[in-house]
Order: sequence, then C-alpha cells, then structure tokens
Amino acid sequence: MSALASYFKRIGDSAKSIVVGMGITWRYMVRPKEIITIEYGSKTRAPKERYIPDRHRGVHYLETEKCIHCHICEKACPVDCIEMDGSREPFAGAWQGDGSYISKFILDLNKCIFCNLCCEPCPKECIHMGQEFDVSGFSRANGVKNLLTDGPWSDADRAREGEARELIVAVEAEAKAKKAAAKGKKETPPAAGS
Ligand code: SF4
Ligand code: SF4
Repeated sequence: MSALASYFKRIGDSAKSIVVGMGITWRYMVRPKEIITIEYGSKTRAPKERYIPDRHRGVHYLETEKCIHCHICEKACPVDCIEMDGSREPFAGAWQGDGSYISKFILDLNKCIFCNLCCEPCPKECIHMGQEFDVSGFSRANGVKNLLTDGPWSDADRAREGEARELIVAVEAEAKAKKAAAKGKKETPPAAGS
C-alpha cells in the first residue's frame, strides 16, 4: 500500500471508530435502563450500589474487647505500620481489651500494603480487614487510622499519648512494687518461738 493510501486508510479507520463509539453513547442516551455501569453517588461520594467480595482486603477494624495486647500483629507487619501501647494493669482512660488496657492502636494506611499478615496470626481473631476501600484525605496524617475509635489518629489523640504512657509507667511500677512486697512477705521466715 502506498504512503498516500495508508494515510487515507488511517483517517477512515479513525472516523469509523468515532462513529462506532458515538453510536454506543447515543444508544445508552436514549435507553438509559440498559446502562450497566454502577452509579457513583454525587452527594455521599459513595457508590449507590457496590459489590465487595467477603474476602476483600479493605481498611482494618479491631474488636477491641477481644484484644489481649500481645503485639503479634504489630510484629507480623512487614512494613511496621501498626503501633500500639497499653498495659495489663488498669489505668484511667484506657480502652478495655481482654485482660488488657489499651491506650493506642494505630495503623498507618499510607504504608500498608494490605497483605493481611497482621490478621492471620492474631490469637484472638480480633483484627480484621474490612470492606472500606475508598479512603481519601487532604493530608497524609488522615491516613493514620485509630483502630480504637475507628477514626483518624487526631491531634487530640496524639496529645493524650504522652499522658497515657506516664500513667502506664506509674501503674506498672506500683504493681511491681506490690508484687515485690508480697514476695518479700512470703520469703520472711517466721519469728522464733512463734
Ligand atoms: S495488611 Fe500487611 S502491611 Fe497492612 S498492617 Fe497488616 S501486616 Fe501491615
Ligand atoms: S494480635 Fe490480635 S490480640 Fe494480639 S495485639 Fe494484635 S489484635 Fe490484639
């Protein structure tokens, strides 16, 4: 085929593809019920209908009351995006787990690779990958999720973090002292003649 023929053939092909494409557009314009595209809601910014498989790996959620604060999920994460703090001793303002008191349980979604490796080894099956997937925000800080509140890790949460750590140190020191005192009492030999 000569260069001129090839040139005109390309113009013809382009014109044909425009006619075919616009034909589909016009067909759906006059018969909107045939449209199979899922509509995305404009007000809520959430799809009106959506199908998400049960095993979808979306944003995590935690069943706090079952958590034993064992750190296994944190250690299993290959990119270190889970951070937690808490104690076995009760302290003011803590979230109650299963025999544990938790002040911090955050997950950095900016780093997460949604691999599920944190959920699989959890002995209490209490950390899960959910259905939520359309997370967006104006800053990277919004991408850090507080699993205790199900919201972003806020400035207020950050401000309370240091305070909670101080309480944990204090209650653990007190518990340690009590244990040592109890042990001391047990080991003290009975007085002579008693
Ligand atoms: S899904 Fe993977 S990367 Fe994300 S928090 Fe869990 S272990 Fe870490
Ligand atoms: S592995 Fe499970 S029980 Fe242990 S800290 Fe993580 S969520 Fe809690």
